[in-house]
Amino acid sequence: MTMTISFKELGLAQPLLQATEALGYTHATPVQEKVIPAALSGGDWMVSSQTGSGKTAAFLLPLLNQLMAANPNGKPVPGRAEPQVLVLCPTRELAQQVSADAINLVKFSRGIRIATIMGGMPYGKQISQIKGANLVVATPGRLLDLSNSRAIRLDKVKCLIVDEADRMLDLGFQDDIEAIHELSSQRNQTLMFSATFAPRIMQLATSLMNNPGRIELASAQDKHENIAQTLHWADSVAHKHKLLSHWLSDPTLEQAVVFASTQVDSETIADSLRADGHEATALHGAMPQAVRNRRLQSLRKGQTRILVATDVAARGIDVPTITHVINFGLPMKAEDYVHRIGRTGRAGRSGVAITLAEHRDRSKIRAIEQYTQQPLQAEVIPGLEPQEKSRKPSHRPGSGRPGRSYGGKGASNASNRQGEGKTFKQNHFAKPSGPKFGGSGKPSSGPKFGGGKSSGHKRSFA
Ligand code: AMP
Repeated sequence: MTMTISFKELGLAQPLLQATEALGYTHATPVQEKVIPAALSGGDWMVSSQTGSGKTAAFLLPLLNQLMAANPNGKPVPGRAEPQVLVLCPTRELAQQVSADAINLVKFSRGIRIATIMGGMPYGKQISQIKGANLVVATPGRLLDLSNSRAIRLDKVKCLIVDEADRMLDLGFQDDIEAIHELSSQRNQTLMFSATFAPRIMQLATSLMNNPGRIELASAQDKHENIAQTLHWADSVAHKHKLLSHWLSDPTLEQAVVFASTQVDSETIADSLRADGHEATALHGAMPQAVRNRRLQSLRKGQTRILVATDVAARGIDVPTITHVINFGLPMKAEDYVHRIGRTGRAGRSGVAITLAEHRDRSKIRAIEQYTQQPLQAEVIPGLEPQEKSRKPSHRPGSGRPGRSYGGKGASNASNRQGEGKTFKQNHFAKPSGPKFGGSGKPSSGPKFGGGKSSGHKRSFA
């Protein structure tokens, strides 16, 4: 990241500058450099930016600045439930994270109140919280419930932000968003954030926005150079457990998120890790919200070392001490891979992302590689090699210890590790004696994989 512009140069109000300083933000990140002036200049914008890039502050800072400009004396807001800024998030976890960020940013400001509206929380408390809030962060379903029961009015909204629009569509929120768009139709600004500008996202943008400007900062093809990505082929679930416990003994591991494909799997894996003496806890969407909150809080405080989660945790968790993400079960959608690995390597740190795949998962791995346009380097750990002949890598000697100092600047992760001789790399696209993956990073020349058989697991219910 090139960080050159200070927040002062972006023309933000003093209390916001104080807050960014208190948070230790010395310079704006690239997404902030672009989005803050654009949002301050008005109009509608659609932004593609990667998770972990600082996009939350990129939209919160200009909007908070506008709220402060509209209330320069910081007068307390009247106790009506009529927010001027509305941020929509696809998941409760993300809504909580965005609210927490907003609260941190208004620490030195007066006259700004923030409320969070999301399912799974008591109605009464939320209804009293939204009275007098000028910025509301909400998940769509509960917001519409409250709007339908007239506990909140959206006709004073001046700016609407749709965060993680791609995920919104995945979760079936299109109609809800359109309803919210109608209810806040007199607003004068809409900002939409998404990992990509895929056609379905553009379609949504057209229905919500007026001739939006585009800011394209990231794509699925971003290299994530600060995250060392590794693939291990496994013969069975038992083999995956051995690989998992190998990685959990990595001395560089501070905290890890282990992703499971299903709710049941997340519980089973957490149970088995606890039985092995690990501090592990499960997180999935079927848990009561209060339990989800407690578990996330314990992760944030560093009391939970290993969180075993479904894709409910793939976005919105921002804990800088997560050093490792381990995909025990593969994501349903290739793009969720990018969100999962983005739980590590936050705010400029480095991270490690390990994917454990059974041979029948080949088509899913290929889909991830096609989505990211990058090969996933397969490696083996001595003593834990896959037995299936066709997948056997050409071995090189090494100690097999988990990689300690991955992620040298600029170089590919695989080549860094190869230099250390600690793990072996294998290009799974290459036929046994076939060509190596080319410099273009395009996974176009590999053999076609069949497989893709059902894993027999209950499929991903976040
Ligand atoms: P986000 O992409 O919004 O989830 O942000 C990722 C992380 O970057 C969060 O931990 C933020 O607190 C942090 N962050 C945001 N802006 C900055 C900045 N300008 N300098 C340093 N860290 C930042």
